[in-house]
Amino acid sequence: MEDKSPKNKNKRRCSFCGRSEDEVGFLITGVNGCICDSCSEQAHEIVQEAMRHKGSGADDLNLDDLPKPKEIKDFLDQYVIGQDDAKRYLSVAVYNHYKRLLQPNTKDDVEIEKSNIIMVGSTGTGKTLLARTIAKLLHVPFTIVDATVLTEAGYVGEDIESILTRLLQVADYNVAEAERGIVFIDEIDKIARKGDNPSITRDVSGEGVQQGLLKLLEGSIVNVPPQGGRKHPEQKLIPVNTKNILFICGGAFDGIERKIAQRLNTHVVGYSAAKETVNIDRANMMQYIAPQDLKSFGLIPEIIGRLPILTYLNPLDRTALRNILTEPKNSIIKQYIKLFEMDGVKLEFDPEVFEYIVDKAIEYKLGARGLRSIVETIMIDTMFEIPSLNVDKFVVTLQYAEEQMNKANLSRLQTA
Ligand code: ADP
Repeated sequence: MEDKSPKNKNKRRCSFCGRSEDEVGFLITGVNGCICDSCSEQAHEIVQEAMRHKGSGADDLNLDDLPKPKEIKDFLDQYVIGQDDAKRYLSVAVYNHYKRLLQPNTKDDVEIEKSNIIMVGSTGTGKTLLARTIAKLLHVPFTIVDATVLTEAGYVGEDIESILTRLLQVADYNVAEAERGIVFIDEIDKIARKGDNPSITRDVSGEGVQQGLLKLLEGSIVNVPPQGGRKHPEQKLIPVNTKNILFICGGAFDGIERKIAQRLNTHVVGYSAAKETVNIDRANMMQYIAPQDLKSFGLIPEIIGRLPILTYLNPLDRTALRNILTEPKNSIIKQYIKLFEMDGVKLEFDPEVFEYIVDKAIEYKLGARGLRSIVETIMIDTMFEIPSLNVDKFVVTLQYAEEQMNKANLSRLQTA
């Protein structure tokens, strides 16, 4: 029987389900009522469901509001140094991706097909950075996946469909949204066929994965496990059509220069030996990359055919490394200045320190990735001491940088 005692009557109740304070986890109090934890959870789900319906389809895209290729490239320029070719290709591809999403259902038989992209360039030259930066600007779901974890279905590792699980998750399980998203597949070279001859043992993480990937690239309906992996065998699969999903692949393709050189019928000897005699820039063979080199490397022709836009990234030279330190909007040096600013300390660097950092990155063959570890090595003691000291300015001199580097355990840096 309901307890109508005055004590119980004064209890606060959820205005939605009517349960009293003791019967729920907790109550959130509003101006004229309360809501309990479980009702607010339900309300959240209802809101999400409503948003999902509202946001589906490409209706909210409008060509006039979308960034034009030049604008996309200008944006990329703020974060990524150099790599003009790759930036132009990416900008155009992303813009065309939007146009394809917006194409009206006209009766003329011209249907704009998607042009997936493949970017080839040594590790640490900015492929992932480009992809991440593009993501900041996009109006469509975007995700980065690593091809190294993919294996053929039934083997240890992740199934190919897991790529789409990630996209579904960023699209908040809105299938229509996910179906117009962009996926960046990193380390695509790691699924290259291991040798030119088909081997007797199965190539679990190579050709089989490429065949699986082909299905996604060419556009088909794929059943995606919403939670990914195989840990949830009971989950209901969600069909996702990949026809309009843009795939951007990236890979270092270590050693592909040799294949390019072979094709160009030259030999990569030394690095400046014959530079003047032949009109080929041997220091940067990557710029001559062609689809047949990807085939010699071990990508199957069908995959190459589904990645019609092939672009490359330049190796980072001294000037590029120097610029990476200070020029991008969130450059490493700007980040340290900000860190110190939060302690009320003005951090300054003598310009020759930058040259020194670049020298070290080149000496230890660390590339752009190493710049941060070098700066960290130089700054660690100061970062440890300064918050407890009463100073408002710190200048990093060349002498200080050298001392710190000499003190540090350099072997650690070399394996970074
Ligand atoms: P990749 O994917 O090509 O292996 P990343 O994009 O992950 O290389 O680059 C590693 C790091 O090096 C980035 O986080 C960035 O700090 C820096 N970097 C590399 N290339 C550039 C570049 N072109 N401009 C600015 N920073 C770069």
